[in-house]
Formats: sequence, structure tokens, C-alpha cells
Amino acid sequence: MKLKKLLLATRNKDKVIEIKHVLKDLKIEIISADSFENLPDVEEDQPTLEGNAIKKAQVLFEIAGIPTVADDTGLEVDFLNGQPGVRSGRYAGENVTYEENVDKLLEALAGVPAEKRTARFRTIVAFYNGKEVQTVEGICEGIILDERRGHSGFGYDPVFYVPQFKKTFAEMSLEEKNEISHRGRALKKFKELIHSKLN
Ligand code: IMP
Repeated sequence: MKLKKLLLATRNKDKVIEIKHVLKDLKIEIISADSFENLPDVEEDQPTLEGNAIKKAQVLFEIAGIPTVADDTGLEVDFLNGQPGVRSGRYAGENVTYEENVDKLLEALAGVPAEKRTARFRTIVAFYNGKEVQTVEGICEGIILDERRGHSGFGYDPVFYVPQFKKTFAEMSLEEKNEISHRGRALKKFKELIHSKLN
């Protein structure tokens, strides 16, 4: 069956901007979860990014009946043995701000030298259409700075430095970030995956 509509299983406006930008050339109507009044916030209680992404896509598909794409992202810091990982959004506690999470990360890495501040963002994008679940992964390697740089983007972007570009994500334009980011890479794979469903 031809894919005509795609529901984005997120209310995070920052993510919606990035996802719509990467998917803009798909000839398909993209609807964000905010367009529906009564879609629940799906609890991210699974132990893995993949589990959460699949859960979000399946739960919202069952309610809305529209093929759904969900993303779950984690920041894995090597010095912290891969933390905050799947708990990146709740690193400093429940219902905290991006700033509080970044502050906690900077505290956890205080005094740690640059060569030991390696990290990566990992995104799992899951698609569910009532029949099959498909997942793809995107990774971007970087270094956690010891102070914020830049004002674009969201979340941990001001402290996530990409050596290849000599910039943090927060110093990049939307186009630059999407070109190399975990989410941009995962979504490009997702586009290839669903290409056959568009014709
Ligand atoms: P989520 O579980 O996929 O919503 O992501 C968890 C948390 O990771 C978010 O609340 C942000 O703090 C952070 N995050 C996700 N994606 C990005 C990104 O592209 N840049 C910076 N931080 C991000």
C-alpha cells in the first residue's frame, strides 16, 4: 500500500524541526504528534533506545492508525561508562531542563582531560505501520567540552564538540547539524528504507 502520511511520535519541537527538515523532500504528509489532541505521552520506560523507539511508534500507531516514525536518542560518554545513555533526558532528574542536564554532565566531568571526554550521540529511528517494525541507527562521535559554546540546537548541543567540524552542534546551522548528526544519519537511512513504500 502506498504510504501517504507519516506521524512523528514526538512532541519535542526541537526534534520536529530537525526531522521535518531531513524528510522535507519526501512526497508525503508529515504530521507531528502535537496535531492530535488526545495522543498520550508515551512513557520511555524501556531499558534500551531501540525498545523506547519501537514502543513509541507502536503505541501511537495503534491510537492514530497512521504509519508512525519515532526516534529515541542517548548521549554515551566513555568516561561515565556510557551514561547518561538511555536516561539522557532525565539525567539530572524527572522533569528537568536541558540546562540542568548539561550542568550535571559538566560537573560529572569536572577536571577530566580532553582526551578522556570522548562521547557519541546514538539515535534509533523506529517505523511501524501495523504490520512490520523497522529500525535504523545513526551515530555521531564527539567530545564533551568543559563549557558551553553556541546557541543553536537543543539539549546537550552546546557542549557536544565535533572535531571534524571544529564546532559544537550549537555552533552549527540546522543544515550542518543534520548533515552529520546521529538523527540526520538515522533519518537518511530511514528515507532509503521507506523509499519503496512511496511509489
Ligand atoms: P529522547 O529520549 O530521544 O527525547 O532524548 C533524550 C535527551 O537527549 C533529550 O532530552 C535531550 O536532552 C538529549 N538529546 C536528544 N537529541 C539531542 C540532540 O540532537 N542534541 C542534543 N541533545 C539531544
